[in-house]
Amino acid sequence: MPSKLIAWTDYDADATEFLTGAEAEIRDGHSAGEELVEFAGRVCYGSFNKPNPATNTNAKYIANIKSLAHTSVFEHGTLTFLFTKVSRSLTHELIRHRHFSYSQLSQRFVVPKEGDEPVRHVTMDDEEFTMLMDAYAHAVVSYDRLLAHLTARGILAKKAKEVAREVLPNATPTNIVVTGNYIAWRHFFNVRGSEHADAAIRKEAVEAFEQAAHQSPNVFADMVVYILEDGSKAIHTHLHRAY
Ligand SMILES: Cc1cc2nc3c(=O)[nH]c(=O)nc-3n(C[C@H](O)[C@H](O)[C@H](O)COP(=O)(O)OP(=O)(O)OC[C@H]3O[C@@H](n4cnc5c(N)ncnc54)[C@H](O)[C@@H]3O)c2cc1C
Repeated sequence: MPSKLIAWTDYDADATEFLTGAEAEIRDGHSAGEELVEFAGRVCYGSFNKPNPATNTNAKYIANIKSLAHTSVFEHGTLTFLFTKVSRSLTHELIRHRHFSYSQLSQRFVVPKEGDEPVRHVTMDDEEFTMLMDAYAHAVVSYDRLLAHLTARGILAKKAKEVAREVLPNATPTNIVVTGNYIAWRHFFNVRGSEHADAAIRKEAVEAFEQAAHQSPNVFADMVVYILEDGSKAIHTHLHRAY
């Protein structure tokens, strides 16, 4: 699986000094990040004794916060994904999302390895992938020739690589670490999990969403995966807006 959930918010209820001992919620079916969201909301209203039966569990509290669009409390919980062997065209779309933090493999330092394969777009058949592999192999030959030429001119390694990479195609594999808060991920899953999104980033969005929803079920409870006519998956929320 190219996407892997690797980090998330931790939360120590006792350290808040608002909640201690018996008042500190025993985590049951929700994540530390979701507990932090609830805590942040209860700081706003001073409602630590959970006076309202309609909001006295984490699931109910978070559902209510969503209906109020009290979005700031969702910004306290974060998830970090590592995406491996995804294409540069996919990461070009990914990094358009301005509320994420990114760290991506540098083509100024790392050269394509012999035997590297281009990233197969999810909709390609075998013949089309063979055409892509052929184009990629040619690009790698051009890269090596260009790098050798630059090096022969006395251009140092990093400077030579930053020029040689110009011939690498969109399907070049890359790795990227992405951190974002719950609001940013909800927006990403909504926009890139849509049936209108590129099928490649939609597949990654769905796979990442499934891990996020497993880790923080209440934050993503209104979002579901459904199957499109071509058998691929997309994401839908029943809320009017996903933020
Ligand atoms: C199906 C599809 C087709 C697309 N086609 C193209 C295309 O042809 N060309 C192209 O260039 N891009 C295209 N995009 C990218 C798209 O325009 C967005 O740049 C991208 O989806 C990032 O989402 P976002 O704009 O919601 O911003 P994000 O950075 O994810 O921000 C989330 C939200 O924060 C708010 N926000 C963030 N920054 C600002 C700001 N500066 N001012 C005001 N509000 C802000 C907005 O409400 C925004 O929706 C496409 C995207 C999709 C899903």
